[in-house]
Amino acid sequence: MYRSATAIYRGFVPRAAYSLRVGSLSPLNLSSVSPARKISVFASLSAAQHDPSSTPSPKNDTASRWKPTCLYHTHGMCTMLDDPAHLEKFSHNYADEFRVNVSEFTNKVAQELDYFLVLDLEGKVEILEFPVVLVDAETAEVLDLFHRFVRPSKMSEQRINEYIEGKYGKLGVDRVWHDTAIPFEEVIQQFEVWLTQHHLWGKEMGGHLNRAAFVTCGNWDVKTKIPQQCNVSKMKLPSYFMEWINLKDVYLNFYKRRATGMMTMMRELQIPLMGSHHLGIDDAKNITRVLQRMLADGARLQITARRNSPENVEFLFKNRIR
Ligand SMILES: [Zn+2]
Repeated sequence: MYRSATAIYRGFVPRAAYSLRVGSLSPLNLSSVSPARKISVFASLSAAQHDPSSTPSPKNDTASRWKPTCLYHTHGMCTMLDDPAHLEKFSHNYADEFRVNVSEFTNKVAQELDYFLVLDLEGKVEILEFPVVLVDAETAEVLDLFHRFVRPSKMSEQRINEYIEGKYGKLGVDRVWHDTAIPFEEVIQQFEVWLTQHHLWGKEMGGHLNRAAFVTCGNWDVKTKIPQQCNVSKMKLPSYFMEWINLKDVYLNFYKRRATGMMTMMRELQIPLMGSHHLGIDDAKNITRVLQRMLADGARLQITARRNSPENVEFLFKNRIR
């Protein structure tokens, strides 16, 4: 059974119509989600300069090849993989978007962690989107994505409709949001399956991440929003949200420049913005591009904040963005 779904996804480059069929909305079949495999990703990142302003502008072919990600596909729900027109219009392979040339990592330093989980939540009242990009710390390769739209648990249907129209309507992804969003508790259950598949977390690891850490742009995501949503959803805070890396603090200490947000870091590093700012999956990918560049430049990513108790968060860097 197919039914049609039409929306417009307005990417920065290029604009494209979002038009596809979706299957009937059966629960996700997790067994169909393929485990991460190493893929060759890679781009021309200049590793030579520490001064961001001196790096040549990457007039790259990555931007010209960019197309919007099929957000049904990120949810394991795309039913149009045999449709050439659909494949032409929407990306189904995130590897195309991350092109880093490992051979240019001349300034690379050893990292304390093996994996980074770039997380960028969307939603002010309740979380609406939970995107995570898994990055290999050694090679800066993107290994996998986890992406779920999240259905608020304490809002009326009417309020949700208004909220989604206001937030995602202008990006043309309100329809796919409605087709795929699931409650936060279910997102976390699926996320834990995904973490386990990647050997990043498990009960036998004492509830901590296995040589991995979340990387966020600011402290809000893990410090504030996750605990708030857990309260609203009446859940215990998962044990892996106890520490994280605020990329802005690492950026400040490494480049000796203050960047107040993702856009500033991207501008200073001359990394082109791809996709739609404030679509969580696109922001997570753009933050990943900043992270890849910092790894290439020789930044060492260390935990910047740790939760000692529900109320007490300790910041581990002396110089940090406040
Ligand atoms: Zn698709």
